[in-house]
Amino acid sequence: MRFTPQDEEFRVEVRAWLDANLTGPFACLRGAGGPGREHERFEERLAWNRHLAAAGWTCLGWPAEFGGRGAGLARQVIFHEEYARADAPARVTIVGEELLGPTLIAFGTPEQQRRFLPPIRAVTELWCQGYSEPGAGSDLANVATKAVLDGQNWVITGQKIWTSLAHVADWCFVLARTEPGSTRGRGLSYLLVPMRQPGVTVRPIRQLTGTSEFSEVFFDGARTDAAHVVGEPGDGWRVAKATLALERGAAMLGLQVGFRRELEDLLAVARRTQAGTDPLLRDKLARAWIGLEAVRAYALDTLGGDDPTEASVLKILWSRWHQGLGELAMEVLGAPSMAGSAPPGGRPPKTPPEGDDLDKWQRLYLFSRAETIYGGSDEIQRNIIAARALGLPRPA
Ligand SMILES: Cc1cc2nc3c(=O)[nH]c(=O)nc-3n(C[C@H](O)[C@H](O)[C@H](O)COP(=O)(O)OP(=O)(O)OC[C@H]3O[C@@H](n4cnc5c(N)ncnc54)[C@H](O)[C@@H]3O)c2cc1C
Repeated sequence: MRFTPQDEEFRVEVRAWLDANLTGPFACLRGAGGPGREHERFEERLAWNRHLAAAGWTCLGWPAEFGGRGAGLARQVIFHEEYARADAPARVTIVGEELLGPTLIAFGTPEQQRRFLPPIRAVTELWCQGYSEPGAGSDLANVATKAVLDGQNWVITGQKIWTSLAHVADWCFVLARTEPGSTRGRGLSYLLVPMRQPGVTVRPIRQLTGTSEFSEVFFDGARTDAAHVVGEPGDGWRVAKATLALERGAAMLGLQVGFRRELEDLLAVARRTQAGTDPLLRDKLARAWIGLEAVRAYALDTLGGDDPTEASVLKILWSRWHQGLGELAMEVLGAPSMAGSAPPGGRPPKTPPEGDDLDKWQRLYLFSRAETIYGGSDEIQRNIIAARALGLPRPA
């Protein structure tokens, strides 16, 4: 990717804005909320996201008519590079901004676009993704949550699971079966459902990191307006797959661009400790650097395209690389990485460490285990590649 002189001017503008604004009440947010640390300073990060929105730094890639900047890939990369360089906090808006927003721009009615896009852009409504169920994870077409029309409302009954950020979300896009007796991808609809109503119960699930980034969500006669269906009723599978392609591809751009900063931070640790002189660790650090160059080159070459196979390849490349970084961080930090650090107050650290005792590297190491699962596991991505790119027949 080549950046034009105008792109570089844009970089200067982004850098100057971040330098001037990550100050005062926002200064303490530097570095907050990375992988496995979504609970950190959530309210302050929300305020920061609204501050970004007020200055036009959310939804950069959306067309201008929907409140975005119509920024191409180069400028989005620049924004994320500068965001990571400034150590700005992890954004809380990704599900709405990167998944639902582009889906509504592609498939939504003008009324849906008018109703739902401005609050996503302004960060006044947060979203979660209601796809997975206890019996429908990798096999997503097995969705059993039902919705029936009752006058002017859809009435939804069923259970979702592993729903990231459900505990803070105002709305959920729910894949539900709206044609009784239908099977697999047929008869599913993509519904927009308010979370704050009596028919919705959110139960947090405790994760490896000791915190709860995701929850179980129970719909028990929950309601949403009959007009809040994206695409035609019964055609939700097509819309859901488009959102999944975003999740495997462009939506993770910011995360991937942030990897360079994480690797640089780890290299800084290695330079000032014995790890930097250990021949094996030097070798692994060099391999990590090479691996990141390869991920970056593949991402820049393929993002913005619409080939789902490439999205699957990229998903495997970045998630494997990031898991490797977590493992390498544990090696660089050595034996102390196996124990928690003593929290303020004198309580002894726990072994194995949990919850508040974990530092950012331990959280990265533990949370990155999830990256080869969410958005479709590695095995599922390889099945897609085997069928589409290699032309192999599906197993009987
Ligand atoms: C941190 C995190 C956040 C998540 N956030 C969300 C969210 O916000 N919304 C949401 O809807 N979902 C979310 N998920 C769920 C995620 O999409 C599912 O976990 C994933 O699709 C796998 O489904 P499953 O957990 O039911 O595992 P299963 O489908 O039961 O799979 C179990 C194992 O079997 C393997 N397997 C299954 N089928 C095949 C096959 N055909 N061929 C080869 N191997 C196979 C899998 O690869 C896996 O190793 C999240 C998951 C995680 C870990």
